Amino acid sequence: MRLDGENFELASIALDRTPLGKKDYKLSDGGLTLLKPPAGPFTLEIVTFVDPEANKALSGLYRTNNVYCTQCEAEGFRRITYFPDRPDVMAVFTTRVEADKDEAPVLLANGNFVRGGDVAGTNRHFAVWHDPFPKPCYLFALVGGKLGCVADTFTTMSGRTVELRIYVEPGKEDRCGYALDALKRAMRWDEEKFGREYDLDIFMIVAVSDFNMGAMENKGLNIFNDKYVLASPATATDNDYAGVEAVIAHEYFHNWTGNRITCRDWFQLSLKEGLTVFRDQEFTADERSRAVERIADVRTLRANQFVEDAGPLAHPVRPALYHEINNFYTPTVYEKGAEVVRMLSVLVGRDGFRRGMDLYFTRHDGHAATVEDFIACFADANGADLSQFMRWYAQAGTPELTVTGTFDRKAKTFRLDVAQTVPATPGQPVKEPMTIPLALGLVGADGRDLPLVRANGARVARGVLTISKPAESFTFTGIAERPTLSLNRGFAAPIKVSVNAGADDLKFLAAHDCDPFNRWQAVQSLATGLLIEAVTARGGKPQAEAGLIDALAAILADDALEPAFVAQALGLPSEADIARDIGREVDPDAVFRARRALRERIGGALNDRLSALHRRMSDNAPYRPDAASAGRRALKNACLDLLAADGGDAGITLAARQFAGADNMTDRMAALTTLSLYDRPERAAAIDDFYRRFAGDPLVIDKWFALQAAIPEPATLERVRQLTAHPAFSFANPNRLRALIGAFAQLNQTQFNRPDGAGYDFLAETALALDGKNPQVAARLLSAFKSWRALEPGRRARAEATLRRVAAAQSLSRDTADIVRRALGEQTADDGRS
Ligand SMILES: [Zn+2]
Repeated sequence: MRLDGENFELASIALDRTPLGKKDYKLSDGGLTLLKPPAGPFTLEIVTFVDPEANKALSGLYRTNNVYCTQCEAEGFRRITYFPDRPDVMAVFTTRVEADKDEAPVLLANGNFVRGGDVAGTNRHFAVWHDPFPKPCYLFALVGGKLGCVADTFTTMSGRTVELRIYVEPGKEDRCGYALDALKRAMRWDEEKFGREYDLDIFMIVAVSDFNMGAMENKGLNIFNDKYVLASPATATDNDYAGVEAVIAHEYFHNWTGNRITCRDWFQLSLKEGLTVFRDQEFTADERSRAVERIADVRTLRANQFVEDAGPLAHPVRPALYHEINNFYTPTVYEKGAEVVRMLSVLVGRDGFRRGMDLYFTRHDGHAATVEDFIACFADANGADLSQFMRWYAQAGTPELTVTGTFDRKAKTFRLDVAQTVPATPGQPVKEPMTIPLALGLVGADGRDLPLVRANGARVARGVLTISKPAESFTFTGIAERPTLSLNRGFAAPIKVSVNAGADDLKFLAAHDCDPFNRWQAVQSLATGLLIEAVTARGGKPQAEAGLIDALAAILADDALEPAFVAQALGLPSEADIARDIGREVDPDAVFRARRALRERIGGALNDRLSALHRRMSDNAPYRPDAASAGRRALKNACLDLLAADGGDAGITLAARQFAGADNMTDRMAALTTLSLYDRPERAAAIDDFYRRFAGDPLVIDKWFALQAAIPEPATLERVRQLTAHPAFSFANPNRLRALIGAFAQLNQTQFNRPDGAGYDFLAETALALDGKNPQVAARLLSAFKSWRALEPGRRARAEATLRRVAAAQSLSRDTADIVRRALGEQTADDGRS
């Protein structure tokens, strides 16, 4: 019988109370084997010593800011004791925690509190917790330390009272209100939308400052990166509030999708993550604005997952093999996984989706399930054949749809010819056609949708065609005028679509499409077209941007639109978006120049309207974090950014004034971000002022680090180097690393990709220095190299040389070796361990 275990000292091991000797078991690298385990039931007692203070990998049991806490997903429990560390080994845990009373007055573990008290004759105390629900060890948690607490209660739909507690560093209790409110809304939502009720007597969240991920859904005892708990108007932006709400909801929703039903093995990771991301996205859409949430989610998907899918780190939603599971907590497993669940809901419809989910909960509660089990529930509940749909889990790469629309005035028909391809990805040169739900509309000249009636007289249900072949055609009848095609509405499928439509069609859709996502998409497509032409037609005549400016003007003038939506429409595609759409031989400096020039021209052309809107969206009401107020601020700040786009006095003065006068972090940070783009005295003054105001508040100083790391100018690299020696910076803290090093590598396209390769060298030397202590975070930083092959030859050569140097370094962690070798194409996601 083999048990996993590493990085601790074995004190004793006994079987049915008899101590075992060296001849009874074999110790090996990473585990212990009992040579002759009894055939029947037996009790195994193992005593180990761990050193939480020395644990800088932040996996297993570790110490952060004087708090002992655990992180066991994916394979951290084996750093605490010997155990069969795999998710399909589920057990009922009873945990007794004992500690010095002064050092750890609060003692927590999974489940319900059973008893506690003093340990006689010592200054120690103990607590016993019992979790009646069988769970895999990756969901185990314990916490001990000095913690402040905010408490509340929640009454479930069946009338049970659940105690809610959020634990934070003492003194930060007043920043927990929003998290607690979000938790209660999430609990109610899961009852109403999915019929899921909470199952223990108590639900606890502990916020810690050193944490590798966002948060962890341990049963009954979620442990959070404090970034996703703490929020106050003076210290958190609207985006931070939205992040708290989404992560609180996500981890809570795991109680059913992840904990009650867990994964049979780590290949099924998307079974819990893709599904739970889908659920938290739906929660946010219901709580805030469906259109704006969808746009924000698709921006993130394209920025992270589409790029991953197009590069050397591409892998299927369910990888077939892996070297290091920690490297598969990726945008593909999470975000693309959520898109796959969303497509399922489009294919079977809203009610059909709920039927499938109900069946999933009934059939698999208490079990470790697979993706096949999940999909079978939707097939069975709806009588649907989803066998081809399974390819979404197996094939990597973003499918591409080419659509040609042909109008026949005489026959009054409109024909769609649709062809699909899936590009080759590492280890998968040949692909099979996918099942793709294509949500579409034919928009008439008056802006209204025409009925979608097929040649056989059938109406297209819910406006969704199901594409399944490499090429197919659809003919719609009764079409008297040439319609405008609105394709992939709501971004129902995570694909790229190209269609024979011109700038006039896009302008029309931007003004009239009843699908708000595609109105936004039309503006983005207009801007992308202009930007790509400006980048690739070097020295050529830039195309007129009149169409884009007219489309934006129409959106600014449309009072029926919610401000948050207008703000999204004003946001041009990012430099990374443009680079991704160009796809090869990318010169990040040319992309930056084209984007900056277009922003400047838009700001100039719409100056009066943007100024008026900036004033109209400013109010003196006290800060409230709700979606409508946040939307007004988002629009105000989008206007500010364009008004300052020429770097001239008027816009900079406006930004400097907003920075100084802001009564909340959203407005202050937005003004500072705008100022940061221009090398003027106002910028240096604001950066210094910001530090003085917030010194001593690490989460806020992270914004200060990230802002400076993202400044698109050559002096930035040296500034980032100097900031690594700043007293507020720490290599041991993942949030600091992500703020300074991560922002530089992920957000600063021109400076990370400096033509001299110094940005690459800096990232490599930082990651190598970190690798021995925290390999998970080191590997994640290096994933910034995920699109190096798309760069122009000079940068490409330098990036490759840097990667080769890292790959050749002595004693690389498994995490880092895996990322670097895959980035170099020396191995694929599919030739690791099975
Ligand atoms: Zn999750």
